[in-house]
Amino acid sequence: MIRIGHGYDVHKLTEGRKLILGGMEIPFEKGLDGHSDADVLLHAIMDALLGAAAEGDIGLHFPDTDDRYLGADSTVLLAEVGKILEEKGYRIENIDSTVLCQRPKLRPYIPGMRCRVAGILGLEEDQVSIKATTEEGLGFTGDGSGIAAHAVVLISRNEP
Ligand code: MG
Repeated sequence: MIRIGHGYDVHKLTEGRKLILGGMEIPFEKGLDGHSDADVLLHAIMDALLGAAAEGDIGLHFPDTDDRYLGADSTVLLAEVGKILEEKGYRIENIDSTVLCQRPKLRPYIPGMRCRVAGILGLEEDQVSIKATTEEGLGFTGDGSGIAAHAVVLISRNEP
């Protein structure tokens, strides 16, 4: 049996925060604001994985009203999501994702992000696709107010 999942997330860019994307710190004059480390890409991937398994979303599992998740490292949360799927007998077949970001240019960091996500979830790098695009200066990503990310995943399970 195969199942598909979709995830979407947005965080605001602000002064005085580190920019963390795909589990990597990226040099930039601003960072994403949020209760956790605000890694918008990992949040979209986690929501896609949880969605595929019909296990709710990250707000349900890691509520931002819970101080345990204040400043949380999203790579640790991603590992937990991986465990939730594993316990339900699911294998992750592939992940595809797109980050919508005007600046900085993300291309140089994408191989590192793919390696990081694959490592955390016990996947091969070619099971993890990460793409980046600008929105041609339009909207909230275009004017640099924030960064958005989409992810889709395919998971599978052997049925008895
Ligand atoms: Mg988020």
